[in-house]
Amino acid sequence: MRKTLKITAFFIAFASALVFPALADRTNILPAWNLFSPQQDIEMGRILADDLERSLQLLDEHNANTYIDALGKQLIAHAPGNKYPYQFKIVNDDSINAWALPGGSIYVTSGLIQAAQNEPQLAGVLAHQISHVALRHGTAEVSQAYANRVSNSARGRVSVNDTMTRLNIRFEPGSTPLKYSSEEERQADIVATQILWDTGFDPRQMTQLWQTIVNDRSSRTSDFFNAHPQFSNRVATVRTEVQKLGGLPRNIRGDSPDFHSVKDTLLAGNTNAWPSISDRNANTGNRPELPSTRTVLYRGRDIEFRYPDNWRVSEEGDSISVAPDGGFVSGSMAWGMTIASFDPQGSRYFGSNSFANPGAPGARVDSTTLGNATDQLIAYLRQSNPNMRVVRNTERRRVDGAQAMVVELTSESPVGGTERDWLVTVLRPNGLLRYFVGVAPQADFSQYQRAFDQIVTSVRFMD
Ligand SMILES: [Zn+2]
Repeated sequence: MRKTLKITAFFIAFASALVFPALADRTNILPAWNLFSPQQDIEMGRILADDLERSLQLLDEHNANTYIDALGKQLIAHAPGNKYPYQFKIVNDDSINAWALPGGSIYVTSGLIQAAQNEPQLAGVLAHQISHVALRHGTAEVSQAYANRVSNSARGRVSVNDTMTRLNIRFEPGSTPLKYSSEEERQADIVATQILWDTGFDPRQMTQLWQTIVNDRSSRTSDFFNAHPQFSNRVATVRTEVQKLGGLPRNIRGDSPDFHSVKDTLLAGNTNAWPSISDRNANTGNRPELPSTRTVLYRGRDIEFRYPDNWRVSEEGDSISVAPDGGFVSGSMAWGMTIASFDPQGSRYFGSNSFANPGAPGARVDSTTLGNATDQLIAYLRQSNPNMRVVRNTERRRVDGAQAMVVELTSESPVGGTERDWLVTVLRPNGLLRYFVGVAPQADFSQYQRAFDQIVTSVRFMD
């Protein structure tokens, strides 16, 4: 009975939002704890920018550079927070990627501009990166890392140089401070929606570009995709914020001829002098060494596990890859294991969108089961991998004491032929589904099974 009342109250709140859109208000995001001053964001960003520009080649194309800077400047006029010295540059690379350094240096690849269908989509990527800067996610991540390392660090300021040396911080995609939590990604999507709206763009175009990236299953997109998982949740985040803003902006901006002339120039070539990032990481054609039976400990933000000592761990967003040298082929994992989180639908937030108590942290009502969440995950993985098939299902095991589910699948290997995928899922108390996928070509799978099992058996959750 009480449940019925609650649901009725929810619908009344929802209905009044439709009747009185003027009551709708934008989500206000509070800054996270940060050891650094905004000036230090700029200082750290400059060091990282030098680093980045030494390791990646900038595009030498006057019109394109002028264009991206002008588009970026229109957006930052509506950015919240400090007035950072924002700069927008193009990295000459066919892969699809974008980076935001603390203090305002923002980079997109020429491949990304080529993948965008119109100016609002490109503006969406820039707005998302601007939001990471404005919300100071980079130095918030560094602050956390510093606090985890150094006791009593919450007192007083620290020096940028000293912190960067201690924590070994340099420009490296997927490592601090370019590695954000899924909550930070959600915040960046919300603020990007607001910036786009205020600039007159249709924020939903941002999600159109993600759809293109999800559909393109080539190696060009894998880095961006790994750093920005949970596509369907992101679409919902943008849609919800647009509703809060009272629908689409009144005088909506369309496409621009400048965008297309820049895109055509890039597509016409003369920019291919530099091999793409994925090509530089490409496999040389040999199989990787078999997994060592000696293991080493990996200790992450909220998980630890042991893995073969001849494998390497890399992190992108919330996703962790553990793979041997040569485990990636054209940017896709062919041998190794991915550990990531998935937010199943069907768990609902009440509170954060409630008009009775706006801004209160949402209380989650959990209505998802492990089996249901796992089915959703498989459907989601299939979006980017239509050849994926379930071979064997519903084996149960435990991961760090919690009930887990094991599903065996097959799909297409990046080296050609059939790949075996060993999927283990665990539902966490926060409602997220943690999953582990061990992959290897069919013929090699039996030699990898033990390493996969060893990783999963050794997992300890710290969330
Ligand atoms: Zn992001």
